[in-house]
Amino acid sequence: MKVQIPRGTQDILPGQAKIWQWLEEKMREVTNKYHFEEIRTPIFEHTEIFARGVGDTTDIVQKEMYSFQDRSGRDLTLRPEGTAAVVRSFVENKMYGDPNQPVKLFYIGPMFRYERPQSGRYRQFVQFGVEALGSQDPAIDAEVISLAMNIYREAGLKNVHLVINSLGDKESRAKHREALINHFRPRIGEFCEDCQNRLEKNPLRILDCKVDREHELMKTAPSILEYFNDESKVYFDKVCQYLTDLGIEYTIDSTLVRGLDYYNATTFEIMSSAPGFGAITTLCGGGRYNGLVEEFGGPETPGIGFALSIERLIAALEAEQVQPDIHNGLDFYVVALGERAKDYSVKLLSELRNNGFSADRDYTGRKMKAQLKSADRLHAKFVVIIGEDELDGGIVQLKNMETGEQKEIKLATFIEEIKQFAV
Ligand code: ATP
Ligand code: MG
Repeated sequence: MKVQIPRGTQDILPGQAKIWQWLEEKMREVTNKYHFEEIRTPIFEHTEIFARGVGDTTDIVQKEMYSFQDRSGRDLTLRPEGTAAVVRSFVENKMYGDPNQPVKLFYIGPMFRYERPQSGRYRQFVQFGVEALGSQDPAIDAEVISLAMNIYREAGLKNVHLVINSLGDKESRAKHREALINHFRPRIGEFCEDCQNRLEKNPLRILDCKVDREHELMKTAPSILEYFNDESKVYFDKVCQYLTDLGIEYTIDSTLVRGLDYYNATTFEIMSSAPGFGAITTLCGGGRYNGLVEEFGGPETPGIGFALSIERLIAALEAEQVQPDIHNGLDFYVVALGERAKDYSVKLLSELRNNGFSADRDYTGRKMKAQLKSADRLHAKFVVIIGEDELDGGIVQLKNMETGEQKEIKLATFIEEIKQFAV
């Protein structure tokens, strides 16, 4: 039997899981302040949801999906991203009829992509994302972006910066599309096969190509900004103005098109500029997708969202050497010596726990010295020592591990007394 984890996945071991919990809590706190509510959708969906929702010409759909047939021959796919599933649920549950609009949702959970594993790139990874559906106000674009920035700030990152672009509206994009085709067509033979296929289907996608990134035509490609009609320009300016009002610095990058087919208008990425972060610097990506709800059979509904992975956030924390503020110490470690004391400790532990303290003891029959060492290793705040003599005298020894102070406490009033100082 192969006792080995699948390629591109990782175990989050107990020490590391503390950091995950801490981050997840931060995310919930921030989203709560912005009044986004959690949605939980299945880990797998009908393959069509992603093929249509993410888009046939994307890397995700063409190369990265974990698709399979179940025993009844249904085509299913482990979710590679969150937006398509959230929009599917929005339509299916008629959330567009909710009197509170826009509908502001967030999710957190594992995503699956068949990628070449490397640092910051896994085959199973956890995304946190938000979606605001039902508003076409540039203020919601700024709100969603500021939420993402806030999460990084709350996590303690300093070296993050925002890159923003707009893909304009349908009319602007149609003109830009034509210009792109004219720009690339004469020399499309010099590009990769994917780009050759993209030329007619979705030329914008060429700008997102990782293979031909350095080709000179990439740098001279017509910018969408030049093809904006008035409406697109006013909208984008307004988003930028709100960001400035919020004190969020940004750079505009007209080649930022993002990986998903359904994006339009605002697109953005948040990058890490921490030295030593590695080659993949994108921490978070998002944008507007006015049209996706209709694609799934719902009424015309604008939407905007982003997704970030916890793996890359943790990598950025490591690169910036941020120490998460985690208190994982135990309140009490009970050192019981002798059979009677051990028996008694079963009840004592339970009482401590029922009164809101975390408590543990030795279960391997170690000597007193070794038990004290355990208490130290577990960062216990207090050690309770009970032996035969203590039991006979109706007392315990309580040691404050920080100060080294030790005193006797009556068993009868033990809980009452420790409540005074151990909170
Ligand atoms: P990339 O260009 O890095 O492949 P993407 O465009 O595929 O990113 P999105 O689909 O926009 O990424 O996902 C949003 C965020 O999810 C990314 O910015 C990144 O933080 C994270 N992410 C994407 N793929 C992975 C992965 N395989 N492992 C870990 N995190 C990932
Ligand atoms: Mg990708």
